[in-house]
Amino acid sequence: MIVFNRAPYIPEAMEYVNDAVKSGKIAGDGKNTHLCSEMMEKRFNAAKVLLTTSCTAALEMCAILLNIKEGDEVIMPSYTFVSTANAFVVHGATPVFVDIRPDTMNIDETKIEAAITERTKAIVVVHYAGVSCEMDKIIAIAKNYNIAVVEDAAQGVMAQYHGKALGTIGDFGCYSFHETKNYTMGEGGALVINNIEYLERAEIIREKGTNRSKFYRGEIDKYSWVDIGSSFLPSEFNVSYLYGQMLIADKINEDRINSFNYYYQALSKMADLGKLELPVIPDGCRHNGHMFYIKLKDLEQRTEFLADMKENEISCVFHYVPLHSSRAGKKYGRLSGTDDYTTKESERLVRLPMYYQLSDMDKDIVIDRVLRNIDKE
Ligand SMILES: *Cc1c(COP(=O)(O)O)cnc(C)c1O
Repeated sequence: MIVFNRAPYIPEAMEYVNDAVKSGKIAGDGKNTHLCSEMMEKRFNAAKVLLTTSCTAALEMCAILLNIKEGDEVIMPSYTFVSTANAFVVHGATPVFVDIRPDTMNIDETKIEAAITERTKAIVVVHYAGVSCEMDKIIAIAKNYNIAVVEDAAQGVMAQYHGKALGTIGDFGCYSFHETKNYTMGEGGALVINNIEYLERAEIIREKGTNRSKFYRGEIDKYSWVDIGSSFLPSEFNVSYLYGQMLIADKINEDRINSFNYYYQALSKMADLGKLELPVIPDGCRHNGHMFYIKLKDLEQRTEFLADMKENEISCVFHYVPLHSSRAGKKYGRLSGTDDYTTKESERLVRLPMYYQLSDMDKDIVIDRVLRNIDKE
């Protein structure tokens, strides 16, 4: 059986977990949390990284920081995970869904402007598969209309756009450290704050609406309730395992990119013959090997393909059901413009097994089966 994903097992990382437990300090914002966030700030050239319990939590912090309320609108792609929408919907906003580009599966930047109304508060972009959206154009639009940009960079840790780390380009970036992502603490995430004006309030919201962070730094002599907030900070226990991975982030990144390139090369002949489509990485984008997907002819071919792979004990999966056609999406959101690509492209896409230390032998088995499937056509 070749599984679709497995979390990295890094024995050295367990030592950081052990140290934390031994020290008796395993609540939030302990030693390893500080080390880990500082390391990410340096590495990504980010003003501030606040670790959170999930990417969903980081997105929700953005909604609170932007004072999202009933009647506000937030622009986002329909082809994304539910959290991109939910984080804003729970604060009363209407998600306004925009179509994607067929090449990268990212929001179509040329269709954003038509979705803007007087109620638009933010554009939430999603860097699908760790491949960047057209950020120069998107930032220019947002500036022009004075609206915020949130990057859902759940899949984009260690990826870049014209030399800038994903997550550090908009006002906010949100990372995920869920088990299915490149670096993981089981469940976890981070809020990257690029507009430093939001920092003080972000720290308060993350610490249950208190100024405890200031208290810990010795800036005030007691802390109290000063704003709304929740418990958005992760346990030191979890972060310690993540820290052990971030210390070897390059090694993990390289391994995944090698797997991506291995698949790509092996399947490129079939792609040249027009029998399947491979991912597109636009100029200026450096991806992180988060995902390897192929696109087949249509839903029918994909259904047959998935059944065959399953029969052969290779775990391949499709991805998002477009939010604008889901039950909650119809209730809480609306589609701007037309769905030229979202549904059509999402129905053709299949993800192949991809994780840290996926062996060449396993990749060969997957490739062989993919080729047999495609040749049947
Ligand atoms: C994984 C993912 C999320 C959610 O991340 P959690 O850490 O599980 O909350 C949000 N958006 C996208 C695009 C994702 O891939």
